[in-house]
Amino acid sequence: DTMDLAFDRQHIWHPYTSTLTPLTCYPVTNADGVYLELEGGKRIIDGMSSWWSTIHGYNHPTLNDAAHSQIDKMSHVMFGGITHQPAIDLCKKLLSLAPDNLEHVFLADSGSVAVEVAMKMALQYQHAIAKKSGSTLSKTKLLTVKNGYHGDTFAAMSVCDPVTGMHQIFEQVLMQHYFAPAPQCKFGESWQAEDVNELTALFELHHQEIAAFIIEPIVQGTGGMRFYHPEYLKACRALCDQYNVLLIVDEIATGFGRTGKLFACEWADISPDIMCLGKTLTGGYITLAATLCSEHIATTISDGDAGCFMHGPTFMGNALACAVANASIDLLFENNWQQQVTAIEKTLTRLLLPLTNHARVKDARVLGTIGAVECNQAVNVAQIQKRFVELGVWIRPFGQLIYIIPPLITRPEELEILVNAIAQVLNEDNCFNG
Ligand code: PMP
Repeated sequence: DTMDLAFDRQHIWHPYTSTLTPLTCYPVTNADGVYLELEGGKRIIDGMSSWWSTIHGYNHPTLNDAAHSQIDKMSHVMFGGITHQPAIDLCKKLLSLAPDNLEHVFLADSGSVAVEVAMKMALQYQHAIAKKSGSTLSKTKLLTVKNGYHGDTFAAMSVCDPVTGMHQIFEQVLMQHYFAPAPQCKFGESWQAEDVNELTALFELHHQEIAAFIIEPIVQGTGGMRFYHPEYLKACRALCDQYNVLLIVDEIATGFGRTGKLFACEWADISPDIMCLGKTLTGGYITLAATLCSEHIATTISDGDAGCFMHGPTFMGNALACAVANASIDLLFENNWQQQVTAIEKTLTRLLLPLTNHARVKDARVLGTIGAVECNQAVNVAQIQKRFVELGVWIRPFGQLIYIIPPLITRPEELEILVNAIAQVLNEDNCFNG
């Protein structure tokens, strides 16, 4: 039996898809280790970790066991008025690994929801603070940087880059926030303090309105795989402290080792007030995210008007997802994630950085398990994707960016196949527009 791809094309939305001119979707029947198996049996090496999430590879026996044994007990039970061991174990682990001042965990069902929850926490916190001081005005704005990405739901979208985040379409309904220029000083370069001048000016000018500052630590992912200087993040922490603004770090893409630190904010040695986790949390098995906050935020919210934090999704604390997340985090340490990441970083640095010399390449860069090739032209997604599959790899570029973020178990010879495929398509004119 072959899959009904005509039905798929005619009736199923895929991410960012036109129903009139949908791009080809490749039918996958199985996945194992770093391989995706296409209908018909062709196996291709996954360079994307299913959008950053599959850190240990597919069909992992340990994660499978965790899922099986949990599903035989219970897959899900409501989290209102009920608790369970997988959630308790997971939250203990998260608090022991996260920066010290984070003391409370809200389990959300996707990255975007974790960001919604973070923003709502910040706003409810500021509301409670204002009420307490007898003020009728509370801080209701967010401040962020351009080129950011935090998810596709409305609150998250309102802090995504105003241009690439499609603000024009939703302008009339989107909350309006403040945007500083994107960090310019790159990771590994010498620090230029003027990089935070405009950000500082925005804090000075608007701090009385600003509830929280939100940023992806060290790596702006969807905004172009931009690796910025840790001093920038340090300055953000200092400005938030100076102006009484909460700091939200969105570690959804960077968390759990991807940048070479367990959490990217460790590069700057800072603790946020609120931190979002997702993607890799369950090793890429099932959707689950978490929003962590400080004792002070939790207490202030709980002391306020509502007397509680006003959020509670149906699938909050899903037991199956928590059980797999526990197994995935344990596996990170059993596998010595730091060694895995360093090995991938070394190989990618050796293989991918030389592509900088290619005429079509503007910049090639590597950080942790992230390898990015920024081209001078936008890619032709349909053609480049087809060629990648022919070359035995799964890489999905966007805009001018070809990037890979392979599972931590990827071996040097597999990385070589991934990078060789990139080098090959760079020579093919029809893989690019214009
Ligand atoms: N924040 C960041 C930094 C992300 O990269 C993403 C996902 N690409 C999200 C939030 C949203 O997560 P989700 O897609 O699970 O809603």
